[in-house]
Amino acid sequence: MIEQLDELYREVILDHFRRPTHSGELPGAQISVEGTNPLCGDALTFHLRLEDGKIQQVRFQGKGCAISQAAASMLAGQLEGKPLPESRRLIEAMKALMQGQGPDPAVDLGDLEALAGVRKFPVRIKCAALSWNVVEQGLTDYSQQHSGATGCKPQAPGPASLA
Ligand code: ZN
Repeated sequence: MIEQLDELYREVILDHFRRPTHSGELPGAQISVEGTNPLCGDALTFHLRLEDGKIQQVRFQGKGCAISQAAASMLAGQLEGKPLPESRRLIEAMKALMQGQGPDPAVDLGDLEALAGVRKFPVRIKCAALSWNVVEQGLTDYSQQHSGATGCKPQAPGPASLA
């Protein structure tokens, strides 16, 4: 289907697919999270190294179609150096974009904007969305693990404890 995309989108996507940025392993990553899109056979593992509340470094490993691998490369490039709340906003902006909304003017999507062309092919939206779904899962797991690791344990489970 990639030949059916507008030329501009296609070039950006193929460029990332052929020469992915940020692919490889990442020793010292606090977050390593993987996910698959069984509909297409795409698989991605993201490694994130956090420092000072920022995503300091991102690497990914994966296999699958051009859309899925290009999306991972683009996302990694946009996330690197971003504070965690901004990373979440970027992910939300990509979800909104794929649901048919216009690009959020407050969020710099960079090359990710090329994925807007994929919206015409609903089956392939999952290929693109795999990357940010995987990263979001990793960030959520991490914050859950670390919200309880501050050293201040409750003495007894209170009535408001849902854990
Ligand atoms: Zn795919």
